[in-house]
Order: sequence, then C-alpha cells, then structure tokens
Amino acid sequence: MRLSELTTLRIGGEAERFVDATETDEIMQTVLEADRVGEPWLVLGGGSNVLVGDDGVEGVVVRVATRGIERLPDAAGSRRPIRLRVQAGEPWEALVDHTVRQGWSGVEALSGIPGSCGAAPIQNIGAYGQELAESLIAVEVLDLDSGERATWPAPLLELGYRTSTIKQGRRAVVLSIDLALGDEDARSRPVRYAQLADALGVEIGDSAPLKGVRAAVLSLRASKGMVLDPDDPDSVSAGSFFTNPIVSEAFARTLPAAAPRWAQQTEAPARAVPLGAEPAPPPPAVEGTVKLSAAWLIEHSGIRRGFCLGASRAAVSRKHTLALVNTGGATAAELAELARYIQTRVMSEFGVVLHPEPVFVGVEL
Ligand SMILES: Cc1cc2nc3c(=O)[nH]c(=O)nc-3n(C[C@H](O)[C@H](O)[C@H](O)COP(=O)(O)OP(=O)(O)OC[C@H]3O[C@@H](n4cnc5c(N)ncnc54)[C@H](O)[C@@H]3O)c2cc1C
Repeated sequence: MRLSELTTLRIGGEAERFVDATETDEIMQTVLEADRVGEPWLVLGGGSNVLVGDDGVEGVVVRVATRGIERLPDAAGSRRPIRLRVQAGEPWEALVDHTVRQGWSGVEALSGIPGSCGAAPIQNIGAYGQELAESLIAVEVLDLDSGERATWPAPLLELGYRTSTIKQGRRAVVLSIDLALGDEDARSRPVRYAQLADALGVEIGDSAPLKGVRAAVLSLRASKGMVLDPDDPDSVSAGSFFTNPIVSEAFARTLPAAAPRWAQQTEAPARAVPLGAEPAPPPPAVEGTVKLSAAWLIEHSGIRRGFCLGASRAAVSRKHTLALVNTGGATAAELAELARYIQTRVMSEFGVVLHPEPVFVGVEL
C-alpha cells in the first residue's frame, strides 16, 4: 500500500506491511505483537496531519478504522452534560455533524476538520476559538509502556496548543475518546473568534444557533481551502503547516507594531500548602508570552500565496499562507524544501523559528 493513497497531501512511499483495522482487538494485537518483536509500527487515521517520506515506512502501518458513537448513561440524578464515547476511527466530521444535529454544543466550531476522532487528542485540534480540550473528559488507550488497555482522564494527556503527551512521544494508541457536551436548546458555546462572530452577526461572547455556527465555520474554512474538497486543489494539504510561534513579550516588542499578537495566560498554577505550614512567598513574576501569527510573518517575509520554488510541485496555497499544497505529483522532499525555505525567510527577517505542525514520518526538515 502506498501511503500517498492514505494521506491528504497525497505524498508518501510504500508501507512495508499494512493492516486496515476495523476492530479494536485487531489494532491492539497488531501493535502489541509488532512492539514485542521490535517491528516498527505507525498508526494512521485520516492521514491529514502527516508528511510521509518518499522511501516509505518500515514495519507495519495500522489504519485505525473502528467506528461507533455511543451515548453513555447520564450520571445518576443529573440530566447533563451529554456524555459520548466515540471509537477512534470515526471521522471527526461525522461526529461534529451528529452532535450539531442532536443539538449538543462543544465541538461546533471544530466543524470541517478532517481526520479521525482518535487523532483529535494527539494535537488537541482547535479552530475558530474552540479546542478539543474543552470537551474531552477521557481517552481509552493501549498504553505501550504497560502493554495494557487503560482509561486516562484527559489531564493525563497534558493537552496544550496543538500538542499532547502522545505527540511529545508517550507511546500510546487512542482506542476511543469520551466527550462531555452541552445541551442548551441547540445553542452554541460562546463565540470567541472575531471573524466567526462577524460572519454570524453576533458579539464575541454571545451564543448562536448551532446549525448556523457549523454552516458559518464550514463556509469560512472552504474560502481558505481548509475543508477537504476533491474539486479544490488548494485543499491537497495537511492543513496549517506551521504553528503560531509563542515568544516572550520582550521579544515581541522588537517586532514591527503591525505584527498581530495575542497575550497568553500567565497565571502561576495554584499550589497546595500543607496544614500548619507557612505559605511560601509567591514565585517571582513570570514574564508573559505572546502568540504571533505565523501567516503574517510568512507574508511579511516576502512569501505570497501561490509561491513555489522554481519548477517544484509543492506550493503555498493560493487561499491560505499557512497551508502548503501538493499541486500534483510533489514529493516529500519538495514539500520539505519549501518548508525549510519559508523557515529560513522568516528567521532571517524576524528572528522567529517556525515549528511544523504535522508529524513527520521518514522525512526531516
Ligand atoms: C484541509 C485541512 C485542514 C485542517 N484544519 C485543522 C484545524 O483547523 N485544526 C487542527 O487542529 N488541525 C487541522 N488539520 C490537521 C488534521 O486534520 C488534524 O490534526 C487531525 O486531527 C488529524 O487526524 P488524522 O486522523 O488525519 O491523523 P493522521 O494524520 O492519520 O495522524 C496524525 C498523527 O496522529 C497519530 N495518530 C493517528 N491516530 C491515532 C490514534 N488512534 N492513536 C494514537 N495516535 C494516532 C499518527 O500516528 C500521527 O502521528 C487540518 C488538516 C487538513 C488537511
């Protein structure tokens, strides 16, 4: 099986061995057995957040294709929240569509994100002011350190901006995810993203009908090539190729005033004081950090939408500066070359390192 057939970038060489796993037991047995004999393994969902090398993948690739959305019993005596258990191979878009039709809130602004539910916690998917962490309560995993199936409460994943412990290297396969959703007369969670609020004609912090939020998000995303569409060549990507850089306030002050920036939370974590002990003095003030716009930095380092290097078949999307697209027959090497070029331009213009968002398999920047 060529991985270019399983990835949204349509890039990637042959898998040495391939298993399409429609049962949880099959996922577990394949990965455990490979791990036991030292065979490399890779789990794949929708292939929408990976750049796979042209030489292919050693060992076994397990495509997670388990399906199912199940409503869990309500906690005794309470009506809410709605709790769902979703199998890892269920497409994320199918889940969002289902929840919005049912009138349940919590993931409506994540409409249109490709990929599987099992991969959603890996980088804590987020968009339009919402992220998975707000709704995820637990995951069931195959924990490769213990070799056991386990339920991890969401905090164990340490979900952050496009990251989790699994993305950082903890060896686990997500088998299912548990979500807690709201049920407030088919109204959304407060809208937090200015462009979405504008599209809906509401103020930031207001709620709106769920179906309206989903439609507005899908339309905004389509205008940026950010929904998979066989008729849109600008959607042959892995979504945003770079994360928004987070830098110190002091460094951000050295950037042009026009560079967009958003202050990050700086509150020190609450600390428990043992009974009878004197509270320790407060820690020294931590300097704040700010998130920058990777798209602004790329554009202002001179790289326009549609840009490509010479005859390369990898290009910047014509609809969104942050997405790199395969314009037809591009190799992983071409994609990586373009990404490195962009990193170099942004570094030399602004001194900022851009970090890639997708997971690299058999290819390096
Ligand atoms: C057009 C487009 C738009 C996008 N927009 C967004 C966006 O708005 N916000 C956003 O956050 N992301 C976005 N993405 C990125 C991507 O859709 C998400 O990261 C998605 O969650 C990836 O799911 P997947 O099943 O395709 O993962 P894959 O690409 O198959 O895998 C990604 C990583 O997760 C691992 N993985 C997959 N399944 C499992 C599992 N069950 N257990 C453990 N590890 C697993 C893989 O090994 C790999 O390391 C976009 C991508 C595209 C192509």
